[in-house]
Amino acid sequence: MSKYHIWTIGCQMNKAESERIAARFEELGYIAAKSANDADLIILNSCVVRQSAEERVTNKLHDLKHLKQIRPDILLALTGCMVDNDASRLHRNYPYVNYFFKAGDYPPWLEKADEPSLPQRPSPSAYVPISQGCDNFCSYCIVPYRRGRERSRPLDEIICEAEELARRGAKEVILLGQNVDSYGHDLEGKPDLADLLMELNKVEGLARLRFLTNHPKDMSPKLIDAIAGLDKVCEQVNLPVQAGSDAVLKAMKRGYTVGQYRRLVRDLRERVPGIAVSTDVIVGFPGETESQFGQSVDLLSEIKFDTVHVAAYSTRPGTYAARELEDDIPSSEKKARLNEIEKLQKRVQSEINARLLGAEIEILVEGKKKDKWYGRTRTDKLVFFSSPRDYHGKLLKIKINKTSPWSLQGTIDMEEA
Ligand code: SF4
Repeated sequence: MSKYHIWTIGCQMNKAESERIAARFEELGYIAAKSANDADLIILNSCVVRQSAEERVTNKLHDLKHLKQIRPDILLALTGCMVDNDASRLHRNYPYVNYFFKAGDYPPWLEKADEPSLPQRPSPSAYVPISQGCDNFCSYCIVPYRRGRERSRPLDEIICEAEELARRGAKEVILLGQNVDSYGHDLEGKPDLADLLMELNKVEGLARLRFLTNHPKDMSPKLIDAIAGLDKVCEQVNLPVQAGSDAVLKAMKRGYTVGQYRRLVRDLRERVPGIAVSTDVIVGFPGETESQFGQSVDLLSEIKFDTVHVAAYSTRPGTYAARELEDDIPSSEKKARLNEIEKLQKRVQSEINARLLGAEIEILVEGKKKDKWYGRTRTDKLVFFSSPRDYHGKLLKIKINKTSPWSLQGTIDMEEA
């Protein structure tokens, strides 16, 4: 029987896509290989959002070139954000790769006439893409050029998929899109994310709903009402701020000011007490002065996010920033700024998590790492506990007895043990 192997890098969109490709292979009778060396067909699901990710993909392609020299019969396919409209360039650079296909644009041998393939045994927390692409053109971002303009999936299709995932055992659904807040603007009747959440809240078997990524310029009061009012929607949002300076935000073409962002977080916290807010920050953007960087640090100290994903700016060829702005911050300085934010955030997270000591919190158990079960709270905190029993996919209360900046540890409530 033929064997497949999928190598995935990048965001949750790519992970969701790879899960669906794997499910399609299983339907076609392939079995999963233990490693690439073992496979007859290898798919690389690529990411080029940062230079480091692109380098990992090109290194992987280089390794596979050697494998193909030893085993010329294996088939190689490249998908994800590295695949753009210029297929001839890719064929020229990687002549040993048999197929190139854009994310979600399956080649005929993978295609299925009816609905998308879903994993037979989905994770208790399953990803559901609700849109592809982005219309925003932030000046540093390559995504709109690679994934194209935003295309929303029909509301009914997403609901059917969530129902099917719940029937197959999923307890939580994480809706994915580059900008979930503009979901539906291209559909007939213009349903929005709040409408979608209202429908999904009725799906039997599902206990939790999450969604990412939000865009501060598009998050509506109606969505905040939905988070506040729908019992299955978790008290957690990912709201990338990217910078604490209006001038830098303008150069990034983000479409909001720091003041507007602050108000949005204030509204969220007022309407949804205890909501966890995470964010993304870029340091060393072209022209970012010491004092502008200081404004990012001040904003983070003031807001105290539950999680911060910080990245040093890297030029992505083809973007506005690559064409028009000089990458003028030395890499040593970018590294120092990144370290400063990581240090600050470690302190903030340590304080936030320490407040949970002694609390009893519901988690959804997602799996086991070494000898410990792990799961997440509704506010997306990672919790570990030990038990010889099988708790995979269960919702249960854990009493927290140890905290760190990155995770919590606890013991299972005696009534549930
Ligand atoms: S919102 Fe901006 S950063 Fe996010 S995918 Fe779209 S262009 Fe890229």
